[in-house]
Amino acid sequence: MSPAATNIFTLTHNSKLPDLLDANKQWCEKTTQEHPSLFRDFNAHGQTPHTLFIGCSDSRYNEACLGVIPGEVFTWKTIANVVSDKDLTCRATLEFAINVLKVNKVVICGHTDCGGINTCLAMKRAALKNGKCDHLFEYLQDIDDLYHDHKSDLLGVTNSAKVQSSMLSKYNVQKQINNLLAIDTVKEALERKDIEVYGLLYDVATGLVEQVSENK
Ligand SMILES: [Zn+2]
Repeated sequence: MSPAATNIFTLTHNSKLPDLLDANKQWCEKTTQEHPSLFRDFNAHGQTPHTLFIGCSDSRYNEACLGVIPGEVFTWKTIANVVSDKDLTCRATLEFAINVLKVNKVVICGHTDCGGINTCLAMKRAALKNGKCDHLFEYLQDIDDLYHDHKSDLLGVTNSAKVQSSMLSKYNVQKQINNLLAIDTVKEALERKDIEVYGLLYDVATGLVEQVSENK
C-alpha cells in the first residue's frame, strides 16, 4: 500500500469469523446480481472448466485476472509456481484437470515482484533455514538453481533489483513450462492434441498479463 492510500480491502487482520461470513453474503449478492443464473443454472450442476491455471500463491492475483467467473478455471496455486514431477499435489492436479475434467488449456502464470524469486535473488534463502521456514528453504531449491543459472545474464543487463526480479520471473515461467512438458500426463495430452500450454507473467503493478513462452 502506498503511504497516501486509504484501505480498500474487504477484510483485515482484525476481521473475525462474523466479518468473513458477512463479506461472503455481500459477495454472493453482488455476484448473483451480475450473473443471476451462475449458481442456480451452472455451478449447482457441476463444473466443466476450460483451463487449468497454475500460479503463485501470492495474494495479489489469481485466475480472475483472465476475466473469468466461478466454474471456468481449475486452479492450483503454489509458491513461485514451481512445477515438479516429484510433487504429489502437482501430479494429482494435472491428472484430474487434464484426464478427468478435460481442460484444453494449461496456463502457468508467474508474476512480478515474487517473494520466492526475490528471496533467491537477494541471496536470502539461507536465512530461511532457521527452524521456522526449513521446508520453504528446501522448496526454493529450484528457484535458487534458476537464479545461479542466470546470475551473469541478470547482472549483465541491469543493476536494478526490480528489473532483475521481473527477468527471473520470466525465466522461471519458462523453466516451469519445461518441467510441465516433461510430465507424462501433459506430454501425452499434447501428443493427442487435447491441450495447449501457455506461459504468462502477471504484472502486479498494472494487472496485465504478457506471454513469456512459446505456445505448445
Ligand atoms: Zn510469487
